[in-house]
Amino acid sequence: MLTNDQLAKWDRENFFHPSTNLGQFARGEGAQRIVTGGSGVHITDRDGNRLLDGFAGLYCVNVGYGRTEISEAIAKQAHELAYYHAYAGHGSEASITLSKMVMDRAPKNMARVYFGLGGSDANETNIKLIWYYNNILGRPEKKKIISRWRGYHGSGLMTGSLTGLELFHKKFDLPLAQVIHTEAPYYFRRPDLNMSEAQFTAHCVAELEALIEREGADTIAAFIGEPVLGTGGIVPPPEGYWPAIQKVLDKHDILLVVDEVVTGFGRLGSMFGSDHYGVKPDLITSAKGLTSAYAPLSASIVGQRMWDVLCQGTDEYGVLGHGWTYSAHPIGAAAGIANLELIDKLGLVENAASTGAYLVNTMREALGDHPNVGEVRGEGMLCAVELVAERDGREFFDASEGKGAKVVAAMLERGVIARAMPQGDILGFAPPLCLTTEEADKIVSVTKDAVAAVLG
Ligand code: PMP
Repeated sequence: MLTNDQLAKWDRENFFHPSTNLGQFARGEGAQRIVTGGSGVHITDRDGNRLLDGFAGLYCVNVGYGRTEISEAIAKQAHELAYYHAYAGHGSEASITLSKMVMDRAPKNMARVYFGLGGSDANETNIKLIWYYNNILGRPEKKKIISRWRGYHGSGLMTGSLTGLELFHKKFDLPLAQVIHTEAPYYFRRPDLNMSEAQFTAHCVAELEALIEREGADTIAAFIGEPVLGTGGIVPPPEGYWPAIQKVLDKHDILLVVDEVVTGFGRLGSMFGSDHYGVKPDLITSAKGLTSAYAPLSASIVGQRMWDVLCQGTDEYGVLGHGWTYSAHPIGAAAGIANLELIDKLGLVENAASTGAYLVNTMREALGDHPNVGEVRGEGMLCAVELVAERDGREFFDASEGKGAKVVAAMLERGVIARAMPQGDILGFAPPLCLTTEEADKIVSVTKDAVAAVLG
């Protein structure tokens, strides 16, 4: 067995870590954790720590760690048929079964599911399908995609462009020209503190309409958004936001892509965020919760009106020029089946609603009056605590002070993982959907202690 020192050295010398400060890591600075196991909501590491994972990995291990129902399904599939492709009408029992299970759970008016590997490639698929759709309909100029500032949709060239966070654009020559951004539906950071939620929704809608007017509706293909802003700060939408946005999009014949990579399969306490907020998507992006990250798998769920046009296109132009080697990978599909069965069996969608509400409420009771807490918010099993320098005037800390990261580090010392969201001093929580109220209490008490340790 390798020693910890050996592994740590190999890691620093060989491994290109995603979303990491590269030079710092290579020089032996910055966090390094070698994770060895997981059970329920806890992970363990090589240094002997047992940590409560308040972020379910990257909000993906929705059923919790160590579920043998899923690992056994994966092993069985690997023995029987580890791989066959899905091109030209091929498939496996697992991928076909999962397609039926996904469509049974999807909102009405959805027609087919395309399986990929992760959220970024699923969004890449969706944008390609949208461009194809408009070309088939004979309107090649209708191609721009509207995304929101603070939205997160992946980190590829197109998907990184859709992502509305500066970190993902700076020095990468992004966003690409076809992507335009509009206001984030972030009530706490509304431009005028006197606005009510309904007034702020009207403001977001007016901003969208002005953008469409400026660019021309005949140049805009689609709007993409997460039901609840995720990586941009865990922000539920203001009152009436989604129906109002949908109305504008319908008026201008602009397609709606609902990015449910975080919210799909239960995190909001509903199977899909689209149903939760009463919107009718043309495309749904999902990944994480589909397999609870036991194997990589994503799903682009295509609505009926798009599906009909895609079929018209391939009738005219032949085979759709889009596919990955690993589309609908049987091992991912086997993990997906076992995962969705487990979500049903354990009632995890319902638990996300009830224990999620408990987590948010308990957090609000514990921290809502702290002078450096501007807001405690959440929906389903998503929760955020936004730190501020001054509460009444809503003054933020200087980013260089890294207050959010310091609180998260203090939490880690106390055995709980939270996430310092990348833009603003926001503590993010997205625990596995199987969280109990006792575990929620632990998250809250550790957050309270850590906030007190860092901010007084
Ligand atoms: N969309 C959303 C809403 C996400 O949160 C993420 C990942 N956090 C992605 C897309 C990209 O998924 P992936 O990292 O699997 O490519």
